[in-house]
Amino acid sequence: MADKLTKASIRINTELCKGCYLCKATCPENLIFVSGKLNSKGYYPANYSEEELDIEKHACKGCALCAIVCPDLAIEVYRG
Ligand code: SF4
Ligand code: SF4
Repeated sequence: MADKLTKASIRINTELCKGCYLCKATCPENLIFVSGKLNSKGYYPANYSEEELDIEKHACKGCALCAIVCPDLAIEVYRG
């Protein structure tokens, strides 16, 4: 219940991403995955999805660790 009240989400600018995947390795909820589609710079960018996961167990907590580690400032965090 409390998780629903504090629900957060992120947005990844896939065109800024250079595919280092630090965000993927850092996310404690495993919400970030590697896209199968190349961006315009030729990288497979990180992407974000809650759709394929059990949202009750893996919701974004808004911790911002992914945004902090991103060297290309490609991630924005939104806290509900
Ligand atoms: S940390 Fe930033 S540059 Fe690296 S994969 Fe994630 S979004 Fe892309
Ligand atoms: S804000 Fe935290 S929980 Fe949400 S996607 Fe980023 S690292 Fe994962």
